[in-house]
Amino acid sequence: MLPQRTTDVIIIGAGPTGLSLACQCVRHGIDFIIIDRHAGITPYSKAIGVQARTLEIYEQLGLADDAVAQGTRAARGRLVVDGRVRGELEFGAIGAGMSPYPYVLLLEQSKNERLLYDYLQRSGRDVLWNTELERLSQTAAGVTAHVTTSDGSSEVIEGKYLAGCDGAKSPTRHALGLAFEGSTFERMFFVADAQVDWEMPHDALHVCLAPSTFVVFFPLPGERRYRIVGVFPEEFAGAEGDVLYEEIEQRIKGEAGIRLDIHHVEWFSTYKVHTRHASSFSSGRCFLAGDAAHVHTPAGAQGMNTGIQDAYNLAWKLGMVLKHGAPATLLDTYNEERLANAANLLRTTDRFFQFVSGAHPLVAFLRLNIFPIVANRLTRLDAVRRRVFPTLSQIGITYRRSSLSEHRGDDRFRVKAGDRMPYLLIDGRSIYDSLHRAAFHWISFSGVRHDGRRDEFERRYGSLVEVHELPLTPDVARAFGAGAPFGVLLRPDNYVGCISPGTGADSAVAYLDQFVAK
Ligand SMILES: Cc1cc2nc3c(=O)[nH]c(=O)nc-3n(C[C@H](O)[C@H](O)[C@H](O)COP(=O)(O)OP(=O)(O)OC[C@H]3O[C@@H](n4cnc5c(N)ncnc54)[C@H](O)[C@@H]3O)c2cc1C
Repeated sequence: MLPQRTTDVIIIGAGPTGLSLACQCVRHGIDFIIIDRHAGITPYSKAIGVQARTLEIYEQLGLADDAVAQGTRAARGRLVVDGRVRGELEFGAIGAGMSPYPYVLLLEQSKNERLLYDYLQRSGRDVLWNTELERLSQTAAGVTAHVTTSDGSSEVIEGKYLAGCDGAKSPTRHALGLAFEGSTFERMFFVADAQVDWEMPHDALHVCLAPSTFVVFFPLPGERRYRIVGVFPEEFAGAEGDVLYEEIEQRIKGEAGIRLDIHHVEWFSTYKVHTRHASSFSSGRCFLAGDAAHVHTPAGAQGMNTGIQDAYNLAWKLGMVLKHGAPATLLDTYNEERLANAANLLRTTDRFFQFVSGAHPLVAFLRLNIFPIVANRLTRLDAVRRRVFPTLSQIGITYRRSSLSEHRGDDRFRVKAGDRMPYLLIDGRSIYDSLHRAAFHWISFSGVRHDGRRDEFERRYGSLVEVHELPLTPDVARAFGAGAPFGVLLRPDNYVGCISPGTGADSAVAYLDQFVAK
């Protein structure tokens, strides 16, 4: 008989998604095994844009300060056409008042993985490296993964659930027979991390726009270090992975239209961009998350961040089912919420991508002549900021249509069930400081102590619910559109489950009773 291990959740893949899921399993006290066919975390920089919502999640893990300290805030952008700066954008505080992290942080994927992996190790856990999923099977009771270990021998891992976080070519998705439909963008991308000598200061990202292409220089920590990303023109016929660096350098120089010297190239790559999502993010006891479930254009730096949020959404539901006896149907809402989000994301990134690289004459004219002039004014308009930042930063993701969103009671409020808990300061302190624990949170905004409320919740739900009694400040009233005391029940991922007008907690109790084994 083959050697055998047993666990609750088998995680295939230790990229940013799998590592995030493992970290969230630690938070929720879920037993897991995580494997990866590689020998360690990626040495490549790959994704570099870390969005506000990811930093909010990192904050709960105690990782946000380190991430911010290691990264660079994207504070400024310059739009360059024909080698001349045609527009400047200030966006260092584009999300002011909307998140404790009102910017995009530039921090390489390798460093994100390092942060997550260190958290895992500090928690006494590790990845089974050099361990590859060969095949899997499932029954109504569990999942069996057959793996090859570092010494070439075979092992069996038995789990109650399995999460395929194994990237765009996902062996898990193939084993489950799930379709991965969508399209492949014909043109090829290039990416390089290098030092650049040129006249531009290292304080901004530079977007060099050409009639049907672009090249972007993102400043990285270190003197003159940049991530350079661009796209080959339509007529370029090179094959993926078959392009010489010299060809890329020539392209960068041509597109930028500025005299520049590139040296100390740390790595470069070429790749085709796909926009696809799996037909379902779950099948029986198996789930897909991250690139295994969806891939899209790099427009807006969404890929890694979306995987981290998939993991965040799945983990609390697994925790409720495995640790608190919630009905297994709760797990269906992972597919419901995250597939809808991915489909929406694909549409948004495609539209944005067509704008920055589309060859249609009208689009090219707007991009080269109008956009650079109006861009800065647009990003300063509050109405634009309030629209653009929530989409880009992923704080605007909402599950209003989810079956987990109980709308009875929220019709008079600006915030609805399914929305992320808005960022608020109360007595100068971020409300998120009180919401770090992996639990439901009942917040009564009335400023009044309800004797016995805490005891009642504790008696019914133990440590599953944390009770907060906070004042109804003008900022709270404005954010929620509330004129009188009210209560809000947050799910463990800090999305609103239900809102109840008044000071009673009956609707919260009814909501929670769905999940707690009687
Ligand atoms: C060159 C390049 C540039 C990119 N640039 C950007 C960017 O600028 N912005 C952005 O947002 N995104 C970018 N991306 C995409 C981003 O890197 C992904 O969205 C992100 O890596 C997804 O994380 P993941 O954990 O879901 O998958 P991955 O990072 O692909 O991790 C999957 C893991 O699964 C493991 N695995 C696979 N098969 C098996 C198996 N059979 N058994 C065990 N383990 C297995 C792999 O070894 C890997 O570690 C880029 C990607 C590439 C390749």
